[in-house]
Amino acid sequence: MEQVKAEKIRNTLKQTREKRKHQVPRVYQVKLQNLSARDRETLDSLFLEAKWLYNYVIADIENRLTPDVWKLKEVEVKTPEGFEKREIKQLSSQMRQGIVERIRRNLTSLKKAKEKGIKVGKLSFKSEVRSIPLKQYGITYKISKDKNRVKIQGIGKKFRVLGLHQIPEDAELAEAHLIKKPSGYYLHIVCYLPKEKVMREIKEKQVNQPIGIDLGVKHQLTLSNGEKISWYIPETKRLIRLQKSLSRKKKGSRNYWKTKQLIRREWEYINNKRKDVQNKAVSHLKRFSFIAIQDDSIKSWKEGYFGKQIQNTGIGGIIARLRTLATLIPVFFVDRYEPTTQTCSFCGHKQKISLSERTFKCQNCGREIDRDVNSARNILKTVLERLADPLKSALPVDCGEVKPVEWALSLR
Ligand SMILES: [Zn+2]
Repeated sequence: MEQVKAEKIRNTLKQTREKRKHQVPRVYQVKLQNLSARDRETLDSLFLEAKWLYNYVIADIENRLTPDVWKLKEVEVKTPEGFEKREIKQLSSQMRQGIVERIRRNLTSLKKAKEKGIKVGKLSFKSEVRSIPLKQYGITYKISKDKNRVKIQGIGKKFRVLGLHQIPEDAELAEAHLIKKPSGYYLHIVCYLPKEKVMREIKEKQVNQPIGIDLGVKHQLTLSNGEKISWYIPETKRLIRLQKSLSRKKKGSRNYWKTKQLIRREWEYINNKRKDVQNKAVSHLKRFSFIAIQDDSIKSWKEGYFGKQIQNTGIGGIIARLRTLATLIPVFFVDRYEPTTQTCSFCGHKQKISLSERTFKCQNCGREIDRDVNSARNILKTVLERLADPLKSALPVDCGEVKPVEWALSLR
């Protein structure tokens, strides 16, 4: 019997994988509306129980990460008074399975990072869990589009949501995540759209022109056609003021937590702004027929003196997005050791250029060009040459191989 069941699961997984090849994932965010104090309490208990379960497993991962651990109805929780038993009442079995799977996934990515020689610690205790996996559409959650309602497993009430209209008719709904943010509760719904249609929409807006991109600190993106895209979203004055005020409050006091909550909210606001700019930049880049970019070592930038500035610009986010975009339009990564800044993009002459020089003045052909534009043009040229050379173009192209999760880990 067991064998038949396992075989069936394997087949379904295989079918899904086959289907996903012709689909593109999109995540839609919808916000839960009109929540009463009781609703918040119910939702909060989900997040609290998720934290208990997560920390319980993490505390003794070798012995507790068993195939059956999600079946537990009671876990031990560490309190200032010692260990206490807590009942898991609200989390459905699928939610619990999702949380355990998350631990397994995190372990795997840690292992992978370690294999790559990246220094990583172990999984740490969470002071708060802010996301609960809702694995299967139709079971853990359900939406009714015409009524703008969401039903979450184990909760009797259907929540009113805003934003369901964004989801296209032909989208196939998959898993979702229930998210707790300072500004409220959200559902992140993963949908699969027909790849062909998405590609057609991209093609309609596309210009028949490839583009090279140079990543920088002053201008975050410099394109080979001379365009510069810059943004800098610093921490707000309000945030700095709040942080100062927090430092004067008594730790653990009511006012302390109030201010802390306000700080979280402000962070959410800043990060939303940063994400917004990234979205705009990526949708601009989508218009080009292909993208060439240097696989710069963002990590070394971050560790170096550019650290703060890089964080504020979210360049790491852009690269992660480009790697995802690579499933839709070709994105070519040029080796980071390619001397793109020291080569004249007109005649190919190589010369030294110091960091402070903003203009490339060629000692061979005499032409002058903005340093970053020159570099972006060289990046594009390198890829075009590689593509024109039948021997080289047969080499596998590095695109979309690294998943955002791993990328995020390697950034840490
Ligand atoms: Zn030259």
